[in-house]
Amino acid sequence: MLSSIILATSHSYIAQIFMDNFLELKHFLASPKYVVITSHRNPDGDAIGSSLALAHFLNKLGHTTRVIVPSEYPNFLAWMTGANDIVIYDNSPETGNEYLNNAEIVFCLDFNSLDRIDKLGTAISNLDVRIAMIDHHLYPENFAEFMMSDPSASSTSEMIMDFIQMMEGTKELDVTIGESMMTGILTDTGSFKYSTSPKLLRIVADLLEIGVDNVKLQDLIFNSMEEKHLRLLGHCLNNRLEILPEFNTGIIYLTKKDYEDFKIQRGDTEGIVNFLLKVKNVKVAAFITEQPTIVKISLRSKGDFSVQEICQKHFKGGGHLNASGGASHKSLSATIQQFKDLLPDYQNQLINN
Ligand code: 5GP
Ligand code: MN
Repeated sequence: MLSSIILATSHSYIAQIFMDNFLELKHFLASPKYVVITSHRNPDGDAIGSSLALAHFLNKLGHTTRVIVPSEYPNFLAWMTGANDIVIYDNSPETGNEYLNNAEIVFCLDFNSLDRIDKLGTAISNLDVRIAMIDHHLYPENFAEFMMSDPSASSTSEMIMDFIQMMEGTKELDVTIGESMMTGILTDTGSFKYSTSPKLLRIVADLLEIGVDNVKLQDLIFNSMEEKHLRLLGHCLNNRLEILPEFNTGIIYLTKKDYEDFKIQRGDTEGIVNFLLKVKNVKVAAFITEQPTIVKISLRSKGDFSVQEICQKHFKGGGHLNASGGASHKSLSATIQQFKDLLPDYQNQLINN
């Protein structure tokens, strides 16, 4: 009954979806395989959500799956079914390598070049293994035999639904798979604020039909702050925020000392950059943070202003038109200055549109 609801609307989902050599992959997955699923450094809700959704789905088809991510995921994702079994490659390289050596296929989710996963990427490129990529970032690199790239997708989690449909596996959908997908969709769209299409909402409608509890998930994901997170947000807004009205741009930065004073851990700064976009007329938001070895820059934008271009050209990074990241090896203040110095080049776009 439930799967028939999904099948009934499935045609409209996959009209645009394509994966290189898909039939070969489908044939390969017709018998049980040992599958490793990886996602990017500093995994977010979509990285973990899409990885777990795919793992749960492939488990139901009889495959053995292992999820490996380069670095730790934020605490607000710890409730997810299967999260406990995820191997953090930074912390447990031996276990990760053991899993990789057993792999018959590696799925790369929510990233599109192996250098996004550092040592894990080197380990994968040294393996003689089949590689599949499912991702929604701009400008994928050509490293996978099976490549599914859709920059118009809200999230890689949305694409996992496409993949499940292509595999004719909608009858396997259940609440566990659905919650994982919904987590990636909610976090990458900011609860349906960005990249939300009719197709996505049809998928979400079907997820609700199979019993995914939107309110419960919103609560688990977005209402799980500790007091220190609110105090950190207050500090950012009060003491670390600068608005540059002549460029319709806002900046928030954090120093190494802030990281110590507020005991900031992975994921604690998630979402802070978005507060800048709440300011009327602000079109570009920058969150610039002093990390142990690099300065990380996170950019967000409204409308058709491409922060992807800025991150790719100037900060060795990339991502999406409206959400991108990168890094600098300069000091914090030099990086902030570098960012500010770029703005006059974009002034026309920032002021006139
Ligand atoms: P965030 O600013 O939240 O770290 O990342 C925003 C988006 O940009 C995400 O989709 C993320 O995958 C991408 N991104 C972040 N940092 C980098 C980077 O250093 N390189 C590339 N290629 N993409 C990044
Ligand atoms: Mn994503």
